[in-house]
Amino acid sequence: MAMKEFKAESKRLLDMMINSIYTHKEIFLRELISNASDAIDKMYYKELTDDSLTFNKENHYIKVIADKEKRILKVSDTGIGMTKEELENNLGTIAKSGSLAFKKENEIKDGYDIIGQFGVGFYSAFMVSDVVTVISRAFGSDKAYKWQSRGTEGYTIEECEKDSVGTDIILKIKENTEDEKYDEYLEEYKLKSIIKKYSDFIKYPIKMNVTESRIKEGTENEYEDYIVERTINSMVPIWRKNKTELTDEDYENFYSEKHYGFDKPLKHIHISADGAIRYNAILFIPENIPFDYYTKEYEKGLELYSNGVLIMNKCQELLPDYFSFVKGMVDSEDLSLNISREMLQHDRQLKLIAKNIKNKIKKELVNMLKNERDKYEKFYKAFGRQLKYGVYDKFGMNKDFLQDLLMFYSSKEKKMVSLDDYISRMPEDQKYIYYAVGETYERIEKMPQIELVSEKGYEILYFTDDIDEFAIKVLMNYKEKEFKSVSSGDLGIEPEESEDKSDNEDNENIKLFEKMKNILGNKVKDVRVSKRLKNHPVCLANDGELSIEMEKILNSMPN
Ligand code: ADP
Ligand code: MG
Repeated sequence: MAMKEFKAESKRLLDMMINSIYTHKEIFLRELISNASDAIDKMYYKELTDDSLTFNKENHYIKVIADKEKRILKVSDTGIGMTKEELENNLGTIAKSGSLAFKKENEIKDGYDIIGQFGVGFYSAFMVSDVVTVISRAFGSDKAYKWQSRGTEGYTIEECEKDSVGTDIILKIKENTEDEKYDEYLEEYKLKSIIKKYSDFIKYPIKMNVTESRIKEGTENEYEDYIVERTINSMVPIWRKNKTELTDEDYENFYSEKHYGFDKPLKHIHISADGAIRYNAILFIPENIPFDYYTKEYEKGLELYSNGVLIMNKCQELLPDYFSFVKGMVDSEDLSLNISREMLQHDRQLKLIAKNIKNKIKKELVNMLKNERDKYEKFYKAFGRQLKYGVYDKFGMNKDFLQDLLMFYSSKEKKMVSLDDYISRMPEDQKYIYYAVGETYERIEKMPQIELVSEKGYEILYFTDDIDEFAIKVLMNYKEKEFKSVSSGDLGIEPEESEDKSDNEDNENIKLFEKMKNILGNKVKDVRVSKRLKNHPVCLANDGELSIEMEKILNSMPN
């Protein structure tokens, strides 16, 4: 039988392919399963468009069989199969996609699910195998053909026997090397986990013979292993289901199946967008802070699927930093992927999706704040810091977007309140939104600086988080009300003039003040009589932009 060479450019491409396009060897299985699914889709399409045929979904499946002894892994499908010409054209020429051609020929428009388009996925099989054999019988033909290749040299093709329409892809798995354990690709548990990871939502069953245990007949507690055929994938992804069919429990199960967290989600957001860009997404706001959340190790991101096939584990571009706590996934058919599917070619669609998602999350949080205050407080306790950081970060670029999500502890309510809450009960004569900074609420309560404002009956926000005042300085005002620290020189409050004797007092005490200033040295700028104190003999006030607490934080930072 004559060996046919791959086309010249294909040779080089194949080398490149095997050695560098994919970063994870395990994706070969995703590629072969995607091709099998495409082949069944094509069958479906043929049967849909031909009245003499009926498509019976139950008859279609993909089967993965491993034989450890022979080091053989086989992926079979009941799809449309390939003729001799198709085997030559589609597998003999790299970067030729029979699927893309099929879509064009049949004028299949968007929305149809065929995954293939680049004509390289198949060759990823050579990353894990020395010999690849394809046995295929095309729909409408009674002949079958065997295509075989060891990689770069070329391939052979010959007639063979096959009972039913469809394709078997047979891989001779490589021997282990020092850096790579190819044996894994013959292990039941590994194959199952790869299928679950990348191909869980392929819409046809992916079957495997798996070993299970059962109580031996006639005994009470003796077990025996037996082999049974099981479907490994869950097929219909939850995000394609109708929201009305799904319960909270369904979402919670999905959350834990996906290992998004060990907690229960506080809130889920299910999006089915059908506008300028089509996508489905299921997002979660976790209840607890992930253990590494406020560390450098924490990686934000959403899982990204293209048409039900996992492309990226953590797509960072989909989430702004201030919502980095959100977990979940996005599936879109509108993404243009690059050849390895590991990166996206344009990020225009991705940007659109990201913007959309950002707004939905915000909307959901605002709703929670308004209608489920307890939940929101819980959320805010865990992730409020991140929102405040978001206000401050990027020169305050996102402050307008985030400001109505902020909460602070209120002197009046003795609990967290939003800025809207505060504004809505401000007396008319109150000019500013007052805040006081300190280590704990108890300490702030004892601050002499809050006396005057409290006596006026004004509400004060207590800042105990390092980031609070920084965020507020960036915000500057909320709904045209300026923020004002209770320790600032001018409080905008007219003191109730009793007798105007301060000048006198100043003169009377001038010697005392001189002495105090000498002792304190450059720790203070000035020592003066204050009109704002009621029950305390003395307090510190600041003159410039930075408050005493901010100076403390800045001084404590390295550099
Ligand atoms: P793509 O899937 O991007 O088109 P591949 O390299 O994965 O590229 O596959 C090349 C072509 O080979 C496919 O487009 C398809 O025409 C054909 N092919 C591969 N696997 C199968 C299969 N299991 N059944 C039928 N045709 C297949
Ligand atoms: Mg493919």
